Amino acid sequence: MPASVEQWTAALEQTYWTTGRRTDPLTASRTATRTEGSAPVNTSVLDKAHEGRQVLARAERLTREGTPLAVREAAAIRDAFVMETEELTGHTETVRTRSCPACGCFTLLPVKGRAQCINRHCAPRPGLRRRWTYRDLAQAKPGTPRGVQRSTGYPADLRSMSFIADFLAQSGHAVPQATLTRWAKLHNLPSHKVDGERAHLYSLSDIATVHAAQLAAREGQLCGDGARPACSGLADLFYNTDDQAGAMDQSLARRRIEVAKDLCSECPFIDPCRAAALKPNSKHGQHGVAGGLTARERRDIKDRTGRNAR
Ligand code: SF4
Repeated sequence: MPASVEQWTAALEQTYWTTGRRTDPLTASRTATRTEGSAPVNTSVLDKAHEGRQVLARAERLTREGTPLAVREAAAIRDAFVMETEELTGHTETVRTRSCPACGCFTLLPVKGRAQCINRHCAPRPGLRRRWTYRDLAQAKPGTPRGVQRSTGYPADLRSMSFIADFLAQSGHAVPQATLTRWAKLHNLPSHKVDGERAHLYSLSDIATVHAAQLAAREGQLCGDGARPACSGLADLFYNTDDQAGAMDQSLARRRIEVAKDLCSECPFIDPCRAAALKPNSKHGQHGVAGGLTARERRDIKDRTGRNAR
């Protein structure tokens, strides 16, 4: 598969292309299909090949300027051209590796000349939106996941976990199906049994939010100018603790604590966070994991320090 402006331009100029049929909107909306033999001329392909040459010349001019702004601009016009050409030919590789600048999930698909976020929970803040021109997307910063979301009722994007795992793997951040199922259980995401389907179905949007939030937590994703705490977006994981274990499945509660502590251990803020949580009048509350400690462990430490101080 061509991956750069040069490769795409060469492919468009050297092979035969015919007008393609529209296929599954979830996977492609191609307008041109490569053929082995001669085919009626597809003018969109000719135009695109010509545009490829112009993009190359413009990117080269900008790169020669050498300023950071010009170099960024050159990279953006090249990326935008690749994404547009992929849509023209029914590919989604590049756009699928971008996270939505609004919600941070890997749920962008090419639709009618734009990258569209299909996550139903993607509710852009003012100034952001769910459809992006490829040029804007190429220049936008990666989105920051806001947290795990749950669908109510019977959402339209129910899919099997194997479909969802394959879909999310296209982002380049593959997570095994078993891990996605475990995350779905940890976060209590709803599943549906549908007649004729062997396995339970999940909302693709729900799983995409948990996928993005967990990845961000694990990869210490940079957010703004500072590092992002591992717990951001995962409140329901961090606030299901030993205190609530009696009210819920105990093994699930223990598992949640284990996963939360695991994330704390890698968090860049663990020292100040733990120090703040152990202050006598800490506002860290009486519940939840903070600084790698459960509420009960924090209480015990505070009691011990209080006794020693007397
Ligand atoms: S150490 Fe504190 S800030 Fe970091 S993940 Fe744990 S609770 Fe969140």
